[in-house]
Amino acid sequence: MEKLNSMSETLFCHCCRIHHPRADMCRYLTRLGYRWRCRRSVEAAQGSVADRDAFGRQQTQINRDLARDRAKRQFLSMQERQLLL
Ligand SMILES: [Zn+2]
Repeated sequence: MEKLNSMSETLFCHCCRIHHPRADMCRYLTRLGYRWRCRRSVEAAQGSVADRDAFGRQQTQINRDLARDRAKRQFLSMQERQLLL
């Protein structure tokens, strides 16, 4: 059984945007300074090239969807404006 006080200390994980137990965290250096990340996300990022590719594609797809939504909204509001003229 785990000791309760080892679970009470948590750190914010900048990868998952939630808190994890400190024991699961490791510090890494970014452009903005040191950030805490859980071991799970670090291992996922440093995993096989296939995993990294899959993760990258997922992010690219998300970014693409966001950009398309934004473009669509801009286009629609432009059309609305033209209808009003
Ligand atoms: Zn995490």
